Amino acid sequence: MSYFENFMKANQAYVELHGTLNLPIRPKTKVAIVTCMDSRLHVAHALGLALGDAHILRNAGGRVTEDMIRSLVISQQQMGTREIVVLHHTDCGAQTFKNEEFQAHLERTFGLDVSDQDFLPFTDVEESVREDMELLRQSPLIPADVVISGAVYDVDTGRMTEVQ
Ligand SMILES: [Zn+2]
Repeated sequence: MSYFENFMKANQAYVELHGTLNLPIRPKTKVAIVTCMDSRLHVAHALGLALGDAHILRNAGGRVTEDMIRSLVISQQQMGTREIVVLHHTDCGAQTFKNEEFQAHLERTFGLDVSDQDFLPFTDVEESVREDMELLRQSPLIPADVVISGAVYDVDTGRMTEVQ
């Protein structure tokens, strides 16, 4: 049995709370948040977001990748967002490995050469936020007047600290 059945059950109760909202497709705050998939980071709760407020784009590490840019371009050009927050966090899974050893692990596991693939690990979380903010600033697909902010979320305390 998978966990999926529990989700289906929980959703029945959620539907009662949710009601029928008919919210607009464009996020109310005009903000897109780029963050990590970490299960200890409940973005909406931590940032005071309600349904319909913001786009939340997540991947491993909350890194600015080609696909993250793809989502941001759709977010901005189709859904009207004009501000981006890069939110990384303490004790991130992207800090638990180095490219070379992870590539070797994958080669042993799958018999595939992934030596040209960057899994975007990092050691300094503030530095990774700055790097990703810089990638956004340099992207020709992100307008220069888009407001870009960065922060680190502490998974132990729930506190968010701005990164300049
Ligand atoms: Zn993480």
